[in-house]
Amino acid sequence: MKVKREKWQKEFSEWYNELIETAGIQDKRYPVKGMNIWLPYGLKIMRKIERFIHDEMERTNHEEVLFPALIPETEFQKEAEHIAGFEGEVYWITHAGLNPLEIKLLLRPTSETAMYSMFSLWIRNHADLPFKVYQIVNVYRYETKHTRPLIRVREISRFFEAHTAHRDFEDAERQIREDLEIFDRLAKFLALPYIVSKRPDWDKFPGAFYSLGAEVMMPDGRTLQIGTMHNYKQNFAKAYNIKYETETGDHEYAHQTTFGMSERLLAAVMAIHGDDNGLVLPPTIAPIQVVVVPIPKKDSPYDVVAYARGIVEELKNAGIRAHLDDRDEIRPGRKFYEWELKGVPLRIEVGPRDVEGGKAVIARRDTLEKSVIEREKLVDAVRELIDAIMENLYNRAKEFLESHIKRVDSLEEAKKVFEGRRGIVEIPWCGEESCGLEMEEVLDAKMLGTPYPEEKAKIEGKKCPHCGREAKFIARFARTY
Ligand SMILES: [Zn+2]
Repeated sequence: MKVKREKWQKEFSEWYNELIETAGIQDKRYPVKGMNIWLPYGLKIMRKIERFIHDEMERTNHEEVLFPALIPETEFQKEAEHIAGFEGEVYWITHAGLNPLEIKLLLRPTSETAMYSMFSLWIRNHADLPFKVYQIVNVYRYETKHTRPLIRVREISRFFEAHTAHRDFEDAERQIREDLEIFDRLAKFLALPYIVSKRPDWDKFPGAFYSLGAEVMMPDGRTLQIGTMHNYKQNFAKAYNIKYETETGDHEYAHQTTFGMSERLLAAVMAIHGDDNGLVLPPTIAPIQVVVVPIPKKDSPYDVVAYARGIVEELKNAGIRAHLDDRDEIRPGRKFYEWELKGVPLRIEVGPRDVEGGKAVIARRDTLEKSVIEREKLVDAVRELIDAIMENLYNRAKEFLESHIKRVDSLEEAKKVFEGRRGIVEIPWCGEESCGLEMEEVLDAKMLGTPYPEEKAKIEGKKCPHCGREAKFIARFARTY
């Protein structure tokens, strides 16, 4: 990598943009701004993340669906707040061939308005509830801010959205708790520590009763939202006429929730675990967990390639994703560099001396430490190292996150945080919207919201530093992506 660590914490963007291409994640040269091409290696990693999500959806009884990408203008216009929130970033289809369309179509920016007219046909009776579906699809948003691969794009190509309908508010709340549990399992799978905040009213999802956002801490001290959960109450059900018949024969509007994520998950993995040498992948999502590199010597009586092949076979039989790099034309040093750049968690090197002694050298990607392991203990050693890497990645990132959350009582202290190494500032707040918006201006930062679960947000005996009134909540502010 051209950009080195001491530099990339300041110039994170430059480091990130270089890594996207050199590690083979995406190509940014496609001639539509904000729409990038997934390269094979990047896509393989993303598929591992998606596999986990599919399995979690299955475990929690969500069914997969696939809706068309086009939505008629007439459906889109049914929920007023929702249109207001999205109309500025919608791509329209106005013509079919040479003829203008009678009803314009839009490319989905999210799928509420595509799905809910169908929900009103599918959901008839209390026995149909809870109703839980999801899809992973492309969505389109005309982003006017600076675009950045996987983070801010005009085609979100791996958009995960779960949509549910329930009998009452309490069952919808139970769904939000399940979403949080799924998210927690996914975050652990990716070794990503995070925080959850309840968004302030002015920043909730258009049409939602409330919104939760899960954030991670990027190396430059800015936060990245990687998951959202929304409780819609009956807002969309009323607009789309989603009603069910109760046990007593009454007709009630359903309560609804959604849960959303995207390829930002991979952006977070890259940014949070990566280093000067490139990607550092959690073994859970590494397409190759162990690369075995034979280092032959001329005139040696030992067949290092055969020895290396034997190791790969044994690892594969043990269910470990292993790869033999026996390319003749490339020197071992060059191979090490390439596999480090691609973030392969473990590298095994074998030379004639290892064959002779029945050993192998094993190098960790996360710490770059090397150790010598006996050949017959190799599979167990690899298993242990995989667990150790997961733990180290998580702990390292957790320490970074925690050291970047600062609780302060005054706006001056908060400003200092943003002038320095940034991070998240937690500050007492009266709970008034006007005051919160003014604090955003003063701090030149976004209010992420109040800590969630809500017990964590309560505060007593403190004053709101902006207006001097009694503070009701802790509010979190950060510079965000
Ligand atoms: Zn205030």
